[in-house]
Amino acid sequence: MKVNEYYRASSLEDAYQKLQASPKNAILAGGLWMKKMGQSYDTIIDLSKLGLDKIEDKKDEVVVGSMVTQRDFENSKIVSFLYAGAPAFAVREVMGVNFRNLATIGGSIMGRYPFSDVITGLLPYDVELEFYPAQKMSLEEYLNYKGKMNAILVAVHIKKGEGKGYFKKVKTTALDFPIVNIAVSKVSGEYRVVVGARPMVAARSYKAMEYLNNGGKDFAKAAELAVEELSFMDNKDSSKEYRVDLAKVYVRRGLEEVSK
Ligand SMILES: Cc1cc2nc3c(=O)[nH]c(=O)nc-3n(C[C@H](O)[C@H](O)[C@H](O)COP(=O)(O)OP(=O)(O)OC[C@H]3O[C@@H](n4cnc5c(N)ncnc54)[C@H](O)[C@@H]3O)c2cc1C
Repeated sequence: MKVNEYYRASSLEDAYQKLQASPKNAILAGGLWMKKMGQSYDTIIDLSKLGLDKIEDKKDEVVVGSMVTQRDFENSKIVSFLYAGAPAFAVREVMGVNFRNLATIGGSIMGRYPFSDVITGLLPYDVELEFYPAQKMSLEEYLNYKGKMNAILVAVHIKKGEGKGYFKKVKTTALDFPIVNIAVSKVSGEYRVVVGARPMVAARSYKAMEYLNNGGKDFAKAAELAVEELSFMDNKDSSKEYRVDLAKVYVRRGLEEVSK
């Protein structure tokens, strides 16, 4: 990665002005993906002094600052209470502890990585992204948003609810990217089904959800509906067929788990 200038922002407005100054300027979070990609930047804008590294327990939601590290997220007692700990568990599946001490929740979401365990782990729930300048959109809307968001992610709002979640990452070795990842939830009696790393970015299966939420009880059938609806592809890590087989098994198991 080549960088001309490192800039430590003093406020969100300051960071935003700097970001607008050139298309070659970028926000710096943990810097891990930026470093791996090896791109050139004019100015990288560090948000580390803006107090965005807090997790707050509000009445109806948990608010996670964009600079919260993956490690702080997974270890947070507040987060561990959410949905039987499934979102925290999803983040715990990324690389090793030293890595997660640096990688942030904000950087994980803004990249919309097709392999993301963090995004798959959050997508079954009502999750809203708060940006600067003031704008809010759901995580799902952000994943479907065309083009680059020229804004700063401030916080991730995770709605609280009564229910249980499930997350499964299938990987070849402990530190690998996922071959596929699956998240399922049952919150206030409503099922949600998400499959990611297909190898495309996570998406909900609305056909499976419609079947289940209209009284469908056959979890194997719901899993079939999910793999019919969502597209899967080959890449160097796995064939399309293997991904489909894995998704069918783990969607079914996830539904069994959250229904207990
Ligand atoms: C070797 C390697 C292996 C990985 N394996 C996995 C894996 O198995 N599973 C998984 O889920 N993830 C994996 N990741 C991704 C990782 O979990 C993080 O999501 C990634 O490193 C980005 O987080 P970061 O804090 O390093 O962000 P950065 O690299 O600092 O930033 C990433 C992007 O987001 C932008 N950005 C960051 N914060 C903001 C903000 N607040 N507002 C606006 N834009 C922002 C940056 O400008 C940049 O474009 C891997 C990454 C690496 C490098």
